[in-house]
Amino acid sequence: MSTQTSDPIRSALTLLSEDERLFRDSVYEFADREVRPLVREMDEQARIPRALVDKLFGLGVMGIEIPEAHGGAGASFFHSVLAVESFSRVDPSVGVLVDVQNTLVINALLRWGSDDIKRRYLPKMAASVVGAYALSEAGSGSDAFAMTTRAAERGEEWSITGRKLWITNGNEADLFIVFATVNPEAGYRGITAFLVERGFPGFSVGKKEDKLGIRASSTCELLFEECPVPRANVLGEVGKGYKVAIETLNEGRIGIGAQMIGLSRGALDHTIKYTRDRKQFGKAIGEFQAVKHQLARAATELEAARLLVYNAARLRDAQQPFVTEAAMCKIFSSEVAERVTSLSVNLHGGNGFVKEYPVEKLYRDAKIGQIYEGTSNLQLETIAKQILG
Ligand SMILES: Cc1cc2nc3c(=O)[nH]c(=O)nc-3n(C[C@H](O)[C@H](O)[C@H](O)COP(=O)(O)OP(=O)(O)OC[C@H]3O[C@@H](n4cnc5c(N)ncnc54)[C@H](O)[C@@H]3O)c2cc1C
Repeated sequence: MSTQTSDPIRSALTLLSEDERLFRDSVYEFADREVRPLVREMDEQARIPRALVDKLFGLGVMGIEIPEAHGGAGASFFHSVLAVESFSRVDPSVGVLVDVQNTLVINALLRWGSDDIKRRYLPKMAASVVGAYALSEAGSGSDAFAMTTRAAERGEEWSITGRKLWITNGNEADLFIVFATVNPEAGYRGITAFLVERGFPGFSVGKKEDKLGIRASSTCELLFEECPVPRANVLGEVGKGYKVAIETLNEGRIGIGAQMIGLSRGALDHTIKYTRDRKQFGKAIGEFQAVKHQLARAATELEAARLLVYNAARLRDAQQPFVTEAAMCKIFSSEVAERVTSLSVNLHGGNGFVKEYPVEKLYRDAKIGQIYEGTSNLQLETIAKQILG
């Protein structure tokens, strides 16, 4: 896969380069063929089969930005956004698995990992290892840096003790980026990022949450009891974990925006088809002006959300400031997703309310966009800080 993208300054935002278009289409074709038949069962069973995860690795979407020298696709952040959007159009749970792998974990390893870390972990992540990103705790969500998970020096190693909550990919992951404080008195300046492997002693994956939406995506607690971590597994510098967290989450938010626009597109696809097929008062319900206008408004909102997401991603790839745009794209696309999926349920009538049709699930899935990787209120704080100083 080539890293070539269309000129980020001069192109229309939605004008994809040949390479981007081929990539997006191949991911969507795969999702339609391999993921769609499993969506309902995965939602009911609240799991993503390992065989499907293996196929994602085979497709090359689990190491999108990993350089080819380390076994990855050597592509751009924008490609990750296209992949998350395309999967989420079919299933937002698979979308977020791919999202966390690429926009949080690999992204952090590429930016903050030592050469040794990159050499040891990136080839595995491109081939078979799923990653997870463990920041939140029971008492520290929006106020993430109030964490109590503690890392203490023990000879040549660090020893982690504490509990993380809400960790996406907890069931599937073999590598965890874990944030802990090395000095609670130092506040955010004590926070440090560590790489923990599933097999490390003292580390275990605890209970899995039973959720409203994105049910197939695992959300787990992580338990650490004097878990030894080699010094070489500190990601970035000791005491600089807050920077790792802030900077990766700024980018991760664009990925959640991509999940939300993919999900909205999926709901709209189903709804346009349904309103063509369903007849009342002697004609297709999609022929009523009220319905046509509702669909036109939804498509317009989705296009606006897509422009915000693509713009934030292209700014990031062009190494331009993008933090405000990322916050804007996340809050707007998650609100659009809620509105579009709600309309989709409405336009399916009674069928919108039952599991036999796909839109009730997308309605449930949409809600998470306003919660994780910074709630909507926190995004508004970021935007307000920028515009009001
Ligand atoms: C399905 C799922 C997957 C997740 N995956 C991960 C993951 O992989 N890794 C990870 O580390 N975390 C993950 N999380 C955690 C997620 O990021 C947090 O739930 C989120 O940041 C909110 O934190 P909280 O739940 O503690 O809510 P709280 O912080 O308690 O917020 C509750 C409410 O108070 C509001 N609020 C809080 N502070 C302020 C303020 N200063 N101003 C205005 N309003 C405020 C919030 O906006 C929210 O509406 C996941 C959560 C879920 C549900």
